[in-house]
Amino acid sequence: MLSWFSIVIHPDTCLRLVDESTGYGVFATRPIARGTVVWLHDELDQVLSPAAVASLPAALRGQAERYGYVNANGDVVLCWDHARYMNHSCEPTTTSIGTLMEIARRDLEVGDELTCEYGLAHVIERFACLCGAPRCRGTLESTDLPALWQRWDAEAAEAFAWALKVAQPVLAARRLDGPGALITRALVEHRHLELPSWADGVPGGA
Ligand SMILES: [Zn+2]
Repeated sequence: MLSWFSIVIHPDTCLRLVDESTGYGVFATRPIARGTVVWLHDELDQVLSPAAVASLPAALRGQAERYGYVNANGDVVLCWDHARYMNHSCEPTTTSIGTLMEIARRDLEVGDELTCEYGLAHVIERFACLCGAPRCRGTLESTDLPALWQRWDAEAAEAFAWALKVAQPVLAARRLDGPGALITRALVEHRHLELPSWADGVPGGA
């Protein structure tokens, strides 16, 4: 079991070049069941205050802004593993529970890309979306959250219900007394939980 402690993105994933314009993406290397936690924020992820990001040399600041996401405190979190290469999709294959974890929203086959919704915790500046999904919004912007929180709440509740039914090996990397402990503990104990709403901003702690 010790090896799980260094894995906060699901072990059955790999990093692969999508194309020159997109860059890298994260892909399933084995089937991953719907409801499986595929990524979890952990203590090795770097949490940078806005002031710390602003004081970085420009080249590093660009990396933090491109690969980081913004948590409930407004800090930029830079994942230490290949989770930072997860691409956005307007119809993603994973669902965010706060900024704490990502859950597979359908059964993933070998070669499927793990994608997430940047509108929840990533949009620092408005940018064009080229995800190609049928329901692509065309642009991502900070106003997406107030416009779409009801849909995202419903998707989170559905994903969490599925998560209670399947094995969750990634959860071993998480302390049960830290931020997001209520959510993690509920999953470990297979217990239903009323999730915080995106209507209140970015929920779920770091
Ligand atoms: Zn899109």
